[in-house]
Amino acid sequence: MPYSYDEQNIFAKILRSEIPNETVLETEFALAFNDIAPQAPVHVLVIPKGPYVCYDHLLSEGSSEEILGFNNAILQVIQKLELSPMDGNSGYRIISNAGVYGVQDVPHLHMHILSGRSLGRMIEKD
Ligand code: 5GP
Repeated sequence: MPYSYDEQNIFAKILRSEIPNETVLETEFALAFNDIAPQAPVHVLVIPKGPYVCYDHLLSEGSSEEILGFNNAILQVIQKLELSPMDGNSGYRIISNAGVYGVQDVPHLHMHILSGRSLGRMIEKD
């Protein structure tokens, strides 16, 4: 069943500055901050400022400016933290969980950017 955006989700509260965050980078369209329970030495969450639940929601209903702005913020984080293999760095992984099968806990679109150690295989086998 489709669901609508929940204004009370924790990332909406972070965007409204109702709860604190460790900001890595902020732009007109996105906020990047450290995950509260990091799974790797680098674990940054990048969220759009607009009310989007998951990535396909942004892609289908966001404006071109919002989509470009969000993706550009991801690039800025990768550049700021010097993660890109294109620049001779050791790389990173981006994950965006969506819905039940994706095991998404917070219903506001977020990209996890993980790095700082080898991250192993992409998913566990059954
Ligand atoms: P999901 O399972 O929805 O893809 O991931 C949600 C992520 O948000 C988790 O990695 C979790 O540690 C992180 N998280 C949950 N609550 C907070 C919070 O209040 N602050 C921050 N910085 N991260 C949070």
